Amino acid sequence: SETESRNFIEAIIDRDLAEGVCDTVHTRFPPEPNGYLHIGHAKSILLNYGLARQYNGKFNMRFDDTNPTKEDVEFVESIKEDIQWLGADWEDRLFFASDYFGEMYEAAVKLIKKGKAYVSDLTAEQIKEYRGTLTEPGRDDPFNSRSVEENLELFEEMREGKYADGEKVLRARIDMASPNINMRDPVIYRVAHMTHHNTGDKWCIYPMYDFAHPIEDAIEGITHSICTLEFEDHRPLYDWVVRELEYPSPPKQIEFAKLYLKNVVTGKRYIKKLVQEGIVDGWDDPRLVSIAALRRRGFTPDSIRKFVELCGVSKAHSTADYAMLEYCIREDLKAKAPRVMAILDPVKLIIDNYPEGQTEMLTVGNNPENETLGSREVPFGRELYIEREDFMEEPPKKYFRMFPGNEVRLMNAYFVKCTGCVKDENGKITQVHCTYDPASKGGNSPDGRKVKGTIHWVAASTAVPAEIRLYENIIDEEKGVYNVEDGSLNLNPNSLTVMKNCRVEPSLTGAVSPERFQFVRQGFFCVDSRDSRPDGLVFNRIVSLKSSFVL
Ligand code: ATP
Ligand code: MG
Ligand code: MG
Repeated sequence: SETESRNFIEAIIDRDLAEGVCDTVHTRFPPEPNGYLHIGHAKSILLNYGLARQYNGKFNMRFDDTNPTKEDVEFVESIKEDIQWLGADWEDRLFFASDYFGEMYEAAVKLIKKGKAYVSDLTAEQIKEYRGTLTEPGRDDPFNSRSVEENLELFEEMREGKYADGEKVLRARIDMASPNINMRDPVIYRVAHMTHHNTGDKWCIYPMYDFAHPIEDAIEGITHSICTLEFEDHRPLYDWVVRELEYPSPPKQIEFAKLYLKNVVTGKRYIKKLVQEGIVDGWDDPRLVSIAALRRRGFTPDSIRKFVELCGVSKAHSTADYAMLEYCIREDLKAKAPRVMAILDPVKLIIDNYPEGQTEMLTVGNNPENETLGSREVPFGRELYIEREDFMEEPPKKYFRMFPGNEVRLMNAYFVKCTGCVKDENGKITQVHCTYDPASKGGNSPDGRKVKGTIHWVAASTAVPAEIRLYENIIDEEKGVYNVEDGSLNLNPNSLTVMKNCRVEPSLTGAVSPERFQFVRQGFFCVDSRDSRPDGLVFNRIVSLKSSFVL
């Protein structure tokens, strides 16, 4: 909106447009298909897509699949699904970097012909040693003096498969004395006899990331290539590649700080272990922060967009609280989600003076903050379920719910006065008893009598059984994510509570993912996309209602 100040990337784009550096904006999101996307990636996706939209430009989806050792095609579909879900629409612009291997090869040949690249026989270790350190300049590669003809021939032989992995590489000829080590004749092609998921065995040489990425951007006409801060000191190399290859309108790399969430697990290695050990039930377990997990937990694309916006775009590293993400979903759902009644830990409430066998339908508004959601009919009867914790035989001070002699409001229904309870042989309460005031229908007494407590309920005869899953952080926040001694995760043993015996109101019959509700007094919930069935509803708590987070 107009009131928001422009971030530094918008300022760069504005200037580029004003100065005619480019006349349109074209961005891309370039994941390596080697894992599930997480909340950090969402920031990059929404930033790139958002800029394209804002400037009436274009947004490309590109799989950066140039490295055959690490990629795993199984992730291609999940990544596409996540990006679509977030609402970033690449239209018909879906690309695979491996489709450009031919152009990349030609680009390397062009550099050799210009005297800007040479084949080296040094081993990876020797190359590292020759490149020097921050305090010590690099030394010339002994193979640096090969002629253009010899380099062309050797590079061709590399492509033909004459050499084993590691036997020869192609290096860019830049500056072995540069203070930036990335500029000390970086390797741009290597031999790797590997099958690639897209190109099969066509190639046995593969381009390095720093060489491939600017070419991918240039081929696609990307104007602003946005990446994260760790690539900042690779930018001179990026610029060198597009300059030496003489692209007419070269793309420009811009770096921003990664988004980190406090006390969450994002590392693939760790998540893999949690899955293998059965601590989580997959990469989309609602306690994780992969986009698939957030989706299954019940977060909306809008809430994630809002979160990313609040985090802002800058060059300064920062860590956001999960509480801010929770704030965003509460804000998004409070006026959108219907408010219904669900009992997580039920105990029977019997209204002894209510006619036996009678059921009446009460009209209840679906959301007091949003009249457009209308109302529904909720059955009420002599036997109800209430939360076990809403009754206490011997209440402490300030307990305003049900206890013998106390009158409370049954939400949207009647005033009831508690008369006692029934216990089984173990002392467990099996029934709570009360009487109701028929004149208080709707939840107010005509004589102006006040009650301090209002509790929710579900009519027993029409209640629908359900399983409800409650979550806490999978990490023990007091201890921090990692154990200092062995680097293992500090897990919270209470991160999942499964309530198997819940009762929900009949309006929830037929609820399916991705439907979301507010269960009054309990929080926001969604239908679990994986485990819920029409005859066995399963809900996930997205977030509780209370928040300590203030914006
Ligand atoms: P990870 O190691 O967490 O998987 P990555 O850098 O390997 O991250 P890529 O698939 O290479 O992920 O990245 C795709 C894009 O997402 C890149 O442009 C990258 O800079 C961006 N990205 C990755 N992590 C974050 C983050 N935490 N915050 C913002 N952008 C990110
Ligand atoms: Mg990466
Ligand atoms: Mg990755």
